[in-house]
Amino acid sequence: MHEDDLIYTFAKEYLIRASDLMSLLMPKTLGVGVGVKGLDGRYLLANKAMEALFGQTAEHITHLTDNDLFPSEVATRLQLSDQQIIDGAAAASDELDLSAKGGCKRCLWLKFPMMGPDGEILSIGSVVLDISRQEDVADMRQSLDRLQETNQELQKTLVELDRLASTDKLTGAWNRRRLEETVINEMDRLKRYDHPLSLLIIDIDFFKKINDQHGHVAGDQVLAKLAAVVYSTLRVTDSLTRWGGEEFVVLSPNTTLSTMAMLAERLRERISQAVFPAVKQVTVSVGVAECMAGETWEEWFKRADSALYRAKACGRNQVQLAPETPQRVGVGENVSANFVQLSWHSAYECGNPLIDGQHRALFGHANYLLAALLCGRPSEEVAALIDALMGAVVQHFKDEEAIITAAGFPGSAAHAAIHGELVDRAVVLVDRFHAGTLAVGELFQFLAHDVIARHMLGADREFFPYMQNRR
Ligand code: GH3
Ligand code: MG
Ligand code: MG
Repeated sequence: MHEDDLIYTFAKEYLIRASDLMSLLMPKTLGVGVGVKGLDGRYLLANKAMEALFGQTAEHITHLTDNDLFPSEVATRLQLSDQQIIDGAAAASDELDLSAKGGCKRCLWLKFPMMGPDGEILSIGSVVLDISRQEDVADMRQSLDRLQETNQELQKTLVELDRLASTDKLTGAWNRRRLEETVINEMDRLKRYDHPLSLLIIDIDFFKKINDQHGHVAGDQVLAKLAAVVYSTLRVTDSLTRWGGEEFVVLSPNTTLSTMAMLAERLRERISQAVFPAVKQVTVSVGVAECMAGETWEEWFKRADSALYRAKACGRNQVQLAPETPQRVGVGENVSANFVQLSWHSAYECGNPLIDGQHRALFGHANYLLAALLCGRPSEEVAALIDALMGAVVQHFKDEEAIITAAGFPGSAAHAAIHGELVDRAVVLVDRFHAGTLAVGELFQFLAHDVIARHMLGADREFFPYMQNRR
């Protein structure tokens, strides 16, 4: 069994450990009965003293219910206190007359919940004391206090065990099991609320060589450092999983393919710039995929894995996207988000069909350009997309100016002047890009954010009230 699985099994089966502890804590001579009952009402365990109190052998008690063991009046009362525990009470107690072989005994019956690592009740613990023997009561209280303390310690250990069982020791990242548990919930959210959900797979380039040249310890240090670099780049809602030896998975809720592509590119770049112990330079290849409606986890993962394979085949140190994106209407991320992805939202509509259509098309142009940049398309192709986007912007500005002037918008001359400035600046930047003195990322930022998103969601909104059919 894998070590993590072993720890996990320990954590899940702590109940056995707890009951062992309990019987150790309870001196048998005191005649204190200790039992553990499952939520289905069947006893899982009982100690020797319980036998005497119940008039049954311990083996016999296991698997039986209170109904099997006691007269219905007693069983009903026991079910009531069980219910209190199930409803969340920290403890419950009752005084009952139990009739065993040696006659009738007045018993104090205490119950407490036994909780799993997530705080959910797994079973009900019982401590039963014959209170006709008064001298034992004080000892009993002391033992109970100790039990309580031990139980709390145990809870802490369990939480820690669970964390260990779901975390990779070397990198602190989640392990596979934790990711697979989480992804089920996230995919369910996608199904119910149509929230986008994306993942990326990172694979270190030529890691075998790193091990061969610098040794396994250096290799391990690279893994730890790489995880730290990734963590420093992720948002709080993203998770990092060590999927296998030198493969990592980032899962990002509420994230579309193009936003994930930006994150992937950032990660790739930061990793390539980081200084690693001994090895110095490390590069990674990344495959990105957005979850499609109706897709299984395996299918989705496989698409990301194929994209990763392409990134390796195309020369490594790069990001590749699984091309599929779900069709979604009206659900979008905020354009002012850190990432460059532009999603259309009906709130961006002014009511004029031509302007709205053009605005929407500009979003499309920008996203298309982004995808081309991220996939490392040839520079002629990128240049052509930039020219197409510029052409669309200029045409749109012209049409928009005519429409808002005709609609009687008093600020139309000033708005046209803003358009003029934006175009002038864009032309200068595009020229610099063609001349090779401007990084394409900077140009993209200007075109997508300053010209398209910020202008459309800022200055343009002033003429919205003058448009017909405004909702
Ligand atoms: P590629 O660019 O195609 O991904 O080449 P690669 O050498 O990275 O790929 P490959 O999958 O062939 O090798 C992965 C290596 O990772 C093999 C294995 O020795 C090493 N590895 C796996 N787990 C660990 C680990 O926990 N620590 C160290 N130091 N090395 C590991
Ligand atoms: Mg590798
Ligand atoms: Mg405008």
